[in-house]
Amino acid sequence: MTISLTERDVAWIIEQVIKNVEQAAGTHNGHVSPVKTASEATIGKTESSTGAPLFVSVAEAVSAAHKAQQEYTANFKIEDRNNIIASIREAAKREAETIAEMIFEETGLGRKEDKVAKILLAVLKTPGVEDLKTTAISGDYGLTIEEMAPFGVIGAITPVTNPAETIINNAISMLAAGNSVVFNVHPSSVKCCSYVVRLLDSAIRQGGGPANLITMIENPTIDTLNEIASDPKVNLLVGTGGAGLVRALLRSGKKTIGAGAGNPPVVVDETADIEHAAKSIIEGAAFDNNILCIAEKEVFAVQAIADELIYHMLQNGAYMLGRQELAKVMDLTLTADEKSGAASCSGKREIEYHVKKEWIGKSAESILNAIGVKKDNIKILLCEVDFSHPYVQLEQMMPVLPIVRCTDVDEAITMAVRAEQGNQHTASIFSRDVVNMTRFAKAINTTLFVKNAPTLAGVGYKGEGSTTFTIAGPTGEGVTSAKTFTRVRRCTLAEGGFRII
Ligand code: NAD
Repeated sequence: MTISLTERDVAWIIEQVIKNVEQAAGTHNGHVSPVKTASEATIGKTESSTGAPLFVSVAEAVSAAHKAQQEYTANFKIEDRNNIIASIREAAKREAETIAEMIFEETGLGRKEDKVAKILLAVLKTPGVEDLKTTAISGDYGLTIEEMAPFGVIGAITPVTNPAETIINNAISMLAAGNSVVFNVHPSSVKCCSYVVRLLDSAIRQGGGPANLITMIENPTIDTLNEIASDPKVNLLVGTGGAGLVRALLRSGKKTIGAGAGNPPVVVDETADIEHAAKSIIEGAAFDNNILCIAEKEVFAVQAIADELIYHMLQNGAYMLGRQELAKVMDLTLTADEKSGAASCSGKREIEYHVKKEWIGKSAESILNAIGVKKDNIKILLCEVDFSHPYVQLEQMMPVLPIVRCTDVDEAITMAVRAEQGNQHTASIFSRDVVNMTRFAKAINTTLFVKNAPTLAGVGYKGEGSTTFTIAGPTGEGVTSAKTFTRVRRCTLAEGGFRII
């Protein structure tokens, strides 16, 4: 018998052998393999020949997730879901340091200790099965109940800024709701996401669940995303990322939950506790070097307290860029392109700014170093600018915080609403005037509106309430949790049951 192998087959065989050798050695890129943390017996029984839960082929990933979801629905009770979720939480908590290190190494974004905090937030504050509520209506005509039923297979797209955190958060919410999920992760986070998907798959099986409730595409691209979107076995798409991603998913014609970009403004009025405002804004804006979509991106301070606010910021880890330093930081971190089309009356063409990817998520000190300023213990670079400055208008995701002086709170609110760009994502205010708080909240109408705290409080970090890493502003679901990933199923028993008696 002759067997003919294509080049692709050979490459695949080599890859599997390398994987097996790595697993046998118990290491994966220098880290303890998650496969090692699961019992040998469980893995031996369920690991498929395709390298599940990671799949090269979209069709195979979707089929495996579909089969797993059908088994999940048919043979697993709510109590079983609870055990599976508990096992996921336990594994992700145990491995939080390793995962944070892997994310940092692979993406080069943010700060390792803040990533540990984000992972623990996802582990501890993502609601599980308890989020699902059945409503019952009873009366003369019988009984009607409305249950939260699963969608089935979910296609989930994750961002590079919270790669593994989003997988942990989404997996808990989606599985608690009875679904399975196929992840198409950001290509720059494939290694850490593979590690986490394997870790969670092992944990699910250790918790008594079926394999492949979560699967991942090994080489995710926009093409694989399109394949997921058009697969008839995928019932729901959930996209966490920028505006382009959300637009692409909405064009697919499939039910979509879209969590898009933000550009959160902060308003500080003359009634605020200014020292507290300064400390809180620095804490939020510096967290993970400002890569969070909810992080404070620009400040609108009323003239009467602007100097005091800046003074307290400087006392708490901020550095004020001088005019020339600001020009150098702009040169370093932004590209300036002339807009195409007609020139203005003065003959000048308008400039369009873009953030240079290589500076996203870098530390304030490394930006300062790059412009030749040596300073220690700097968390945030401040600059005083006007409303039209690119650092105000762009979602820059760097620890560079522009401050705009406003004549009064009315002007601050008007500017903040415009700077948020209609994303309806996140905003905050420091004030003791409840009327100002309410006016701003109504005018900006964001999913998260935080008063007198870092915006992190809005996702339950040192704040009340549950957390999410998928804040669905554009499609309106808001702070997503298990119930978001359910369909409402109505079940009616008519005649009050009397005919049966
Ligand atoms: P990104 O939009 O570049 O990528 C996100 C995901 O979408 C990736 O998996 C990427 O491969 C894919 N993608 C990107 N453009 C696409 C397109 N046109 N068609 C199909 N797929 C596409 O975003 P990022 O840099 O990974 O993350 C940062 C962005 O995500 C920021 O704008 C941030 O505000 C936003 N974000 C939002 C939330 C939220 O909950 N609303 C959470 C985290 C990040």
